[in-house]
This record gives sequence, structure tokens and C-alpha cells, in this order.
Amino acid sequence: MSRKLIAGNWKMNGSLAANQALLRELLAGVKAPVCQVAVCVSMPYLAQAQELLAGAAIELGAQDISAQVSGAFTGETSAAMLKEFGVRFAIVGHSERRQYHGETDAHVADKAKAALAAGITPIVCVGETLAQREAGQTEEVVKRQLAAVIHTNGHCISEIVVAYEPVWAIGTGKTASPEQAQAVHAVLRAQLVAASTLKAATTQDKRVPILYGGSMNAANAAALLSQADIDGGLIGGASLKAADFMQIIAAAQ
Ligand code: PEP
Repeated sequence: MSRKLIAGNWKMNGSLAANQALLRELLAGVKAPVCQVAVCVSMPYLAQAQELLAGAAIELGAQDISAQVSGAFTGETSAAMLKEFGVRFAIVGHSERRQYHGETDAHVADKAKAALAAGITPIVCVGETLAQREAGQTEEVVKRQLAAVIHTNGHCISEIVVAYEPVWAIGTGKTASPEQAQAVHAVLRAQLVAASTLKAATTQDKRVPILYGGSMNAANAAALLSQADIDGGLIGGASLKAADFMQIIAAAQ
């Protein structure tokens, strides 16, 4: 089985000074990780992070990407622009973007397509709200969100990363139990396998990594990451503290 992926989502946090301190601490502690490690920083800091991470074992990610190639799209950042800064991953469809920016399943799927076309791996976020979980709709919601990405991206879905992020667990300190997370990951795995089998024989054996995200921290990471279908983590708050993030990386090994 391939290496786990631990990706930090810094969200709208950081400053030139704070980023430098955090990245220097990470660089000193993360020299030859057994898992893959990435940090997804805010757009203005891509150049700084690219420079600091040059030659290191930590890869660079963005928190969003435009579905458009270029032109009159004020405020957006294209895949080609991200590529110029050595961006390897782009988070798409984070629940905060779905919630505050009205991103639909179709829009998220188009963003994933734009990323893939540029050789950037989209980290496609799916997840249910508390109300949806309580209404027994978890499976239906995450399958619908992922289906849109599969539909738009065809056989290229073997190149994506999926992140299951229950909305009720993001930034709340409420983590899905390992069993709750594993149950949803198994549903997503089955959906990906079925799609791969239908789309192209070449993708059948390729396992799309499915990350868990939602208040993962140094204390709960090992139990979550030991589940059969949890291939890594997307970490928000705990990725802003080098010691915590490095403990999560250690738990993935
Ligand atoms: C996230 O925003 O992707 C996330 C998982 O946040 P947190 O770890 O803070 O819940």
C-alpha cells in the first residue's frame, strides 16, 4: 500500500514571520518522513513557502484553484499560476468554500478538472453537516458530492485525492470516531472502485487516497490513521503548531 499523506490546511492564517518560523521548525523536524507531507498555504505566501521548501520533503499546496483558465475572473487564481509556484496539491470543495462562497458540486468538479489538467492533484473535500448526519443522510450526501467529480473527470479520478471532512467536526474539537470515519471511507472507497472499473481498466488497481479531516490532532491521529480505509489526514488547526503537526506525521508512519 502507498504512503499515507498528511496535509496541513493553514486556512487564512499566517504572516511572513509566522510562516517562516513554522516552516523552519517543520523543516528541522521532517527530514525523511515515511509518509507524504504537504502544507496548503494562503495564495500570497506561495512564493515564500516555495522558496523555504525548495529541496525539502514537504510539498506545497494551495487552498483553492479557479475552474477557469484565464481572463476576467477577478480575485481568482488559475492552475497555471499555481504551477509557477511549484504547487503540487490544491484543496477543492472545502466545506468553508461550499458554505461561504456558494460552491456547488458541479463547480467543485470543474475545479478538480482544472487542477488535473495542469498536473496539480486536487484534494476533493466531501462531508455532511450535523443536520444531514442526524437525518441519516451522510452516505447520500458524500456520494452525491463525489459523484459530481467522478462524472466530470472520468478516468482521471484515479489521480485525485479525496478528503472526508464531516462539517460538524471541522474546527469544533468534535472528531468523528475512528469507526464513524472508517464507515464513510469504506463507502467512498467502494464508489471510487466502482467508478474506476467502469471508466478504464488501467485505473482498477490504483487506490485513490482518502484522507480524514476534522479536528484531527496529536492525540487522536494514530487511532484514525490505523483504520483500513483512512489513507492520511487533512489537518486544520493542528497544522499551525509544528510540534502537533509533527506528532500527526509520526502517527502516520
Ligand atoms: C480543515 O479545515 O480542513 C480541518 C480539518 O480543520 P480542523 O483540523 O481545524 O478541524
